[in-house]
Amino acid sequence: MDKKSLSSTFTFADGNKMPIQGFGVYKITDEQQLISAVKDAYDDGYRLFDTAQMYKNEAAVGKAIKNLGVKRDQIFVTTKIAEENQGYDKVMASFEDSLKRLELDYVDLLLVHWPIHTHFFETWRAFEKLKEQGLVKSIGVSNYGMIHLEYLATKANEMPVLDQIETHPYLNQYAMINYNKAHNIVTQAWAPLGRGSIFDDPVIVKIATAHNKSAAQVILRWQLQRGVSFIPKSVHADRIKENGDIYDFELSDEEMKMIDQINKNKRISQEPEMVYEIGHQYPHG
Ligand code: NAD
Repeated sequence: MDKKSLSSTFTFADGNKMPIQGFGVYKITDEQQLISAVKDAYDDGYRLFDTAQMYKNEAAVGKAIKNLGVKRDQIFVTTKIAEENQGYDKVMASFEDSLKRLELDYVDLLLVHWPIHTHFFETWRAFEKLKEQGLVKSIGVSNYGMIHLEYLATKANEMPVLDQIETHPYLNQYAMINYNKAHNIVTQAWAPLGRGSIFDDPVIVKIATAHNKSAAQVILRWQLQRGVSFIPKSVHADRIKENGDIYDFELSDEEMKMIDQINKNKRISQEPEMVYEIGHQYPHG
């Protein structure tokens, strides 16, 4: 059994560290609910909180963090620049607004939420500038495929340290994960649970029963053992705790393979290539 825990970290190519497991806050817009979910998560040991301009809850996340009353370096905060705020000047201005809403002096990780063909390089230039200014400790991307990363590499001074992508047992994305590994980019899974769509899968149920664990715990353990970061979301104290309680059992190589084989290449959200072409992630914006 490896010795990982909820406080285990990955070290980025830029030398900074990030907790492997985090807490996602997409769709939590009620301020009190968010404050209480973040408190529950922190008390359980979560240290990474993942928000975005698009989630319209950065201000509530700011309040939730303040409510924790902990030193800034005890938590890791990620936010993301929305498609409509891409472009050099808009990134700089909208990020300043994000920082104000979050009531923070810096964020640990800033991501380009989706690749879009307009402003592709100048958005990244702004990211490099924000890092240089110390307002952002690490810079990364989200929903970037190989071709986006290879294109970015033609002009970037610094490459993203992380790529946050949709990946779960029904969309295992091994080709992309292997590419990221080979390029020293951490892969972070969004919708790591497939938003609940995989809980009844017979393979998951069988493995969960064998370990006396829940389907959610088996899926998150699979994410951990295949070497990706993951940020499940829940507003329920018992589920938040359950999702963090995955460090006392181990999946065998055979069980890992069984889960690998239920892949359907099935997306919950948009095709990144289409968002790149259209310039926004519909139906938003
Ligand atoms: P998820 O896979 O984390 O699933 C969350 C849902 O699963 C919950 O709403 C709940 O219904 C259910 N759930 C969670 N724990 C459970 C448990 N133990 N038992 C039963 N049901 C449980 O999906 P998500 O919220 O879409 O993704 C997680 C985070 O990823 C988001 O909150 C957000 O921070 C981030 N995200 C990023 C992007 C992006 O484009 N970068 C897109 C979507 C989400």
